[in-house]
Amino acid sequence: MKKIVTVVGARPQFIKAATLSRQFKLLGIEEVIIHTGQHFDTNMSDIFFEEMEIPKPTYQLDIHSVSHGAMTGRMLEEVEKVLQVEMPDGVLVYGDTNSTLAGALAAAKLHIPVIHVEAGLRSFNMNMPEEINRILTDRISNILFCPTDSAIQNLKREGFDNLPVEIFKNGDVMLDAALFYADKAEKTSDILKQIGITKFVLATIHRQENTDSVENIRNIVEGLNEINRQIPVIVPIHPRTRNILKKLNISTEFRLIDPVGYFDMIMLLKNSELVITDSGGIQKEAFFFGKHCITLREQTEWVELVDRGFNVLVGSDKIRLKNAFELLRTKQSDFSINLYGKGDAAERIAQYILNYK
Ligand code: UDP
Repeated sequence: MKKIVTVVGARPQFIKAATLSRQFKLLGIEEVIIHTGQHFDTNMSDIFFEEMEIPKPTYQLDIHSVSHGAMTGRMLEEVEKVLQVEMPDGVLVYGDTNSTLAGALAAAKLHIPVIHVEAGLRSFNMNMPEEINRILTDRISNILFCPTDSAIQNLKREGFDNLPVEIFKNGDVMLDAALFYADKAEKTSDILKQIGITKFVLATIHRQENTDSVENIRNIVEGLNEINRQIPVIVPIHPRTRNILKKLNISTEFRLIDPVGYFDMIMLLKNSELVITDSGGIQKEAFFFGKHCITLREQTEWVELVDRGFNVLVGSDKIRLKNAFELLRTKQSDFSINLYGKGDAAERIAQYILNYK
């Protein structure tokens, strides 16, 4: 393949795309980027393109702040128009957002090969919009790049062995990003100076199952308030969560900061005592930087972390959260096990795409 259209729209996709864009440039593959607009403001989008030197998107669709169906439908229509003009050799999508599904569907209907990076992951919770997006995207993809053994097994269980598709385990592009940008983050970020403390717990909350349930969000905030009385909790707050806290008039004792760029995030992760999150990506990044993680969900796609005791699932239950905090705050673990490759996932994926006929 000589020409690829990449469809991105949400924060984690910018981080993943940074790794492959760099490899495409090195190999002389032409990449045209479509930004759907799902995440759109400076802190949630622009900062990643600037810091990580991701090529400027050729197309900005500016589709956001509408319901799931409306968003996916509008993206489908607009991505299709772009693909009809660009006629690429393949369309590359990442992860599990509405942008992923819309990009894959637009391409598949035009018989353009679909490449899915972060394929095969499952939470087995069909109430999650992400689960629907990833299952449907996998099913219409031609090349599935899986980050873990469990992702490969999930696809086999669903019968993908019998489909005319190519499936690879190549490692995780998020590890590539963490390794590549760690030094730059160390040199350029001043977030630790800004927050002015050296011992803290880092937390993030943004999953719909937590933000859209009054009970869940209240429990999580109460749990974090309690932990904050023992050690400061820093929360770079997702705009959706901030709005919901405001609307429900829920007060927090812990410190809320605006969402940060990737370099600041690396420094917060690296220097935290422990991570508490409902994010997919941050569970792995905690592991990359040698931190235990408490996950505010009942399931995770990153089961290898839970199986080995690096990660504890607590849902939105404040008692389980407190117990997991007590368990993990003093626990010593060896984080040197290789679960996500060697940091060359993007290189291997780009090479495969170049040679794909
Ligand atoms: N992230 C960031 N700044 C923040 C919060 C998250 O740079 O304020 C990064 C984080 O390090 C990870 C990615 O965004 O690489 C994860 O995105 P998010 O949690 O939004 O999505 P998920 O991984 O759950 O799909």
